[in-house]
Amino acid sequence: MSDYDKFVELNVKIADISNSMSVLNWDQEVNLPKNGLEKRAKQISTLAGISHELLLSKEYETLVKKLQSQTLTSIEKANVKEAAKVLTKNKKLTTDYIRELAETQTLANNAWLEARNKSDFSIFEPFLEKILNLKFKECDLIGYDKHPYDVMLDTYEPGLTTERVEIIFKDAKSPLLELLGKINKKEVPNNSFMLRQYNKAQQWDFGIYLLKQMGYDFDSGRQDLSAHPFTTSLGPNDVRITTRINEQNLYEMIWSCIHEGGHALYEQGLPADQYGLAAGEYASLGIHESQSRIWENNVGRSLSYWKANFKVLKDSFPDRLANVTLVDFYKAINIVKPSLIRTASDELTYHFHVMIRFEIEKALFEKSIKIKDLPSVWNDKYKSILDVNVPNDAQGVLQDIHWSHGSFGYFPTYSIGSFYAAQFYNKAQKDIPNLEGYIEKGDMKPLLKWLRKNIHQYGRVYNAEELCEKVTGSTLNSKYFMDYANQKYGGLYEL
Ligand code: MG
Repeated sequence: MSDYDKFVELNVKIADISNSMSVLNWDQEVNLPKNGLEKRAKQISTLAGISHELLLSKEYETLVKKLQSQTLTSIEKANVKEAAKVLTKNKKLTTDYIRELAETQTLANNAWLEARNKSDFSIFEPFLEKILNLKFKECDLIGYDKHPYDVMLDTYEPGLTTERVEIIFKDAKSPLLELLGKINKKEVPNNSFMLRQYNKAQQWDFGIYLLKQMGYDFDSGRQDLSAHPFTTSLGPNDVRITTRINEQNLYEMIWSCIHEGGHALYEQGLPADQYGLAAGEYASLGIHESQSRIWENNVGRSLSYWKANFKVLKDSFPDRLANVTLVDFYKAINIVKPSLIRTASDELTYHFHVMIRFEIEKALFEKSIKIKDLPSVWNDKYKSILDVNVPNDAQGVLQDIHWSHGSFGYFPTYSIGSFYAAQFYNKAQKDIPNLEGYIEKGDMKPLLKWLRKNIHQYGRVYNAEELCEKVTGSTLNSKYFMDYANQKYGGLYEL
């Protein structure tokens, strides 16, 4: 057996354990009875320990070192390079640190839940301070050139830096504000028909219809219900999604289905023969999000898409949508209006929610704001940027779960994902003659084929910016998002 084969064997073993953890997590979100929760947490942490031991074993380290000086194919080289990177990073984090972080995360998450329920930031404050101090420690343990926050960003978006995010957001901010200013002067379209009673079973069936049309493979996945929709990969041929149905709101199920469906198509399209290796893994969270957003927004909120699907939707709910025209519907699904809650915001104001979080996180890592001042800093930013008044902490600084897990540096990937989506979609439109014509007929195959060929097949062989440059000819540029937004909303709102 060659060194490379041994390396693959060990990686597959680690992936098997990690996928088993995913099964337990999936089950926890979908099926687990309340009393099973405590032991489940223990089971998952046992597997995490085993996987960590394998990764840090002498055998694995020796193999990775040996392989770095051997002649390999370009894909093998990429797999070894990524493994070396993961190994170096993990070796810097001491076992004590990892244990302390895991314990603090559990406590902080409980405190955050209580604080949000009571809408009282002061309950969360001491735990946030603890978890933030651990994250500062992580920055020191890992090390950085320019900014400690670079360490946080690199966890989710390898290679992304604070400086780069600042440039991307600075470029996007004023054209977005300008467009938003024009839209805000216009009347908000009627969407009352979206908020009527929509039967759960029929909503479910319509979601399945959309997923099948996108090309989601139900022989290699399944959909279930959960409190928060998510996608999880349990292996190359088992990529599961969940959705949530609100009978008084037609938006929630449809776009969560399309969004998670987009994530799942990416996972189903990763090369199965590279299982457990970088080449079989998603490139970054930003690229992952681009695959969900391209389907959710560029496709799923377009007129072409609903030319194909509005009649089917109407037939599913004849007494609810009988008098609604395609244009009324198209306007209702693209309402732009500044609001308090990130997850319920439209595709334009969404980015301000993210920019605010980025500014705050960066300041926290520069230690230029105090934790106790977070609610007022938050509220001031929402007032000055979005002109909304935050009535309480629950709908303000406590709305997101991320900080309670210590997931700093995660938020920027959401916006970056949308910007990648627009840049990719622009290229797909150039590469596929009459792409909109196919979509209007409900034929999503040409787009999926393009995504498979240009993005999915490469896994993590390239980092996000390299991949973007390879596919589109240039690195990430929010101008593509602005072109898309100006064209779409210019038409919709007659600007
Ligand atoms: Mg997502």
